[in-house]
Amino acid sequence: MSMQDEIRRADQKLLHVYSRFPVVFDHGQGVYLYDTDGKAYLDFGSGIGVSGLGYGVKAYQNALKNQIDKLTHTSNLYYHMPMIEAAEKITRLSGMDRVFFTNSGAEAIEGAIKTAKKYAYLRDKRAGHEIVAMQHSFHGRTVGSLSVTGTTHYREPFYPLMDGVHFADFNDFATVKRVVDDNTCAILLEPVQGEGGIYPADPEFLRQVRALCDEKDILLIFDEVQCGMGRTGAFFTWQKYGIKPDILASAKALGCGVPVGAFLTTEKVAENSLEPGDHGTTYGGNPLVCTAVSTVCDLMEEFKIPEHVEKTTPYFEAKLDELCFAHDSLMGHRGMGFMQGLLLKPSIPVGNVVSRALEKGLIVLSAAGNVIRLLPPLVIEEAEIDQAMAILGSVLSEFEK
Ligand SMILES: *Cc1c(COP(=O)(O)O)cnc(C)c1O
Repeated sequence: MSMQDEIRRADQKLLHVYSRFPVVFDHGQGVYLYDTDGKAYLDFGSGIGVSGLGYGVKAYQNALKNQIDKLTHTSNLYYHMPMIEAAEKITRLSGMDRVFFTNSGAEAIEGAIKTAKKYAYLRDKRAGHEIVAMQHSFHGRTVGSLSVTGTTHYREPFYPLMDGVHFADFNDFATVKRVVDDNTCAILLEPVQGEGGIYPADPEFLRQVRALCDEKDILLIFDEVQCGMGRTGAFFTWQKYGIKPDILASAKALGCGVPVGAFLTTEKVAENSLEPGDHGTTYGGNPLVCTAVSTVCDLMEEFKIPEHVEKTTPYFEAKLDELCFAHDSLMGHRGMGFMQGLLLKPSIPVGNVVSRALEKGLIVLSAAGNVIRLLPPLVIEEAEIDQAMAILGSVLSEFEK
């Protein structure tokens, strides 16, 4: 059967929720994916920031295979060694004290919200606490995480959502201050906004938000689902800014391809929030996904991933400068580390550029505001950056004619 026939089969039975690109992927190796016809694609999307180590990494594959043969599930009624090891490693690398493993990024946000609400409930001996989140943020698709996602078109069909959420403008402290009051239990933000269009936080903005949280005993939640796990040149982006959250959400590259997320807290928050019975998950942190987390932590240290990203970023950014200089269709770029956005002129729909790049063997993503989003695997080298820039350049030229 041809790839077109397979796509027809899929479209007859899958719920039509995604506008999928017309390609059926078969396997991956290094920083390339291959479709069922054997065509290679240079991957500058990493399955939306997940496949940080690239593909076909033997140590990762073998660790998972061994664990599948041993045990994949126990429930959280019992202990198992992969969870103990994953918890020790991820708390050490993140600088946080305690972790709760979830199945996704959205569930990590759900847990972070519940933790903050319980913290304020114990402190004030009353319920009714509210969250401050940012415009153009993205925190997931469950009802709770959607309630704190600052993009109206994602939210509106599903009203009423969770009550008590106030939105401020990212990088505008005055608007945060305006919506914070005695009911506020948490301020939630992405240190680098992803879906919203690749906006890094202003260091002064983070400093002011942190100071306000300290002053009012409000918890600061960083959503590092996309920008964490080495992508910005440190294990977590808070370490680059030197501004530490009270709760940290992770997922995406945390397991590099198995469904796992986590929220992590400081000891102070852990001791004054969720108690046995307050929260749980059947699968969350099962032996298979915790083996992935544990192995990813080991390999990211062994391959010196944050150092590699930090060292290669100036080259990547210089190449993006060159691309912007050579192409009228681009208005600039912004980002941090291997999380970069190219600002496309409004007259050229970003979806068309993403589709054409795919046809030419390059995977890129889009983000809000007509942005071409680049999230390559964290192991890419300069030659692969050159190759991506060449393909992107030829695609842009077609649209400039
Ligand atoms: C992807 C993403 C989420 C949601 O993660 P899921 O695993 O899709 O639920 C939350 N926050 C940010 C910043 C993300 O990029």
